[in-house]
Amino acid sequence: MFPWQANNWKTLVTSKNNNRLAHGLLFHGADGIGKNNFAVEFAHWLLCEQPLADKACGACKSCQLIMAESNPDLIMLSPEEEGKAIKVDQVRGLIDKISLTSHGHSQRVIIISPADALNINASNSLLKTLEEPPANTILILVTATPSRLMATIRSRCQMIRFDLPTTEQSLSWLQAQNVENADLVLKLSAGAPLAAKDFANEQGLQIRDQLFKNWQELAQGQVDVLESAAMWLKDGFKVLDNLPLNWVSSWIMDIIRILQGANVESMANADYAKTLQNLAGQVDLKSVYGLLDRLNDTIKLSDTSANQLMLIEGLLLHWAGLKRSK
Ligand SMILES: [Zn+2]
Repeated sequence: MFPWQANNWKTLVTSKNNNRLAHGLLFHGADGIGKNNFAVEFAHWLLCEQPLADKACGACKSCQLIMAESNPDLIMLSPEEEGKAIKVDQVRGLIDKISLTSHGHSQRVIIISPADALNINASNSLLKTLEEPPANTILILVTATPSRLMATIRSRCQMIRFDLPTTEQSLSWLQAQNVENADLVLKLSAGAPLAAKDFANEQGLQIRDQLFKNWQELAQGQVDVLESAAMWLKDGFKVLDNLPLNWVSSWIMDIIRILQGANVESMANADYAKTLQNLAGQVDLKSVYGLLDRLNDTIKLSDTSANQLMLIEGLLLHWAGLKRSK
């Protein structure tokens, strides 16, 4: 477990040792703070034949099977395709599997992540299992957005909240992982240390610099919009999903802050302050709000099947075509 999860661990182990662990657990908290790792580690401990107080033994048959990722008593359920729904057939398959093999089991753990990916039919199907759970089966649902789960599912689970680690905890962990520019990558990952590490590994800072440079050149009319959009798609979105849209959002918000007289300290992109101040000096607040509307439409459409290249083109075209004073 990660150092910032010690209290969650203690709570769950105490519940288990007092025979008070619920059949359904709902782990919730921000993305990128290690909820899934924790769920697997807790399952590992639950299934261990000779568990220690705070970890699995690592030597018994169950532990060895888990380490080989082939322990049949640990079942993981996720969308078949990343970012898509968990389908009802997957849940039915799971239920068949556990009802067929329910005899002679001391313990079994099912981890569903992200649980908000369960579609309505899948949720309804799962609900029956939560209402009448098979013996010795613990179901762990993991999500960053518990509000997207059916209320009837939430109400049948014990909610376990995972807090964002403190900046100090995150930074010391990132530094121990040899992540460079830990401060900045953590800030750009909304304070979530695992997300920050992934971001650093995916060359996130370099990509952000590259896209920001292009964004600045678009404003000066120095680069072609269509070629730029193709570059954003290939080097940005294909690597980091929709993260570049969050960046554009924070650049625009910083320009609005500057136009409203805010100082550098209050900016999300203090490292780009000088360029953002120059860009802000050329535009008026009203047209920047128009751009923000356009961006919000783009963000909404980016989750649909809309053509991504055309969406990016539209956004960059709007930005490049903004009325500028210089
Ligand atoms: Zn063990």
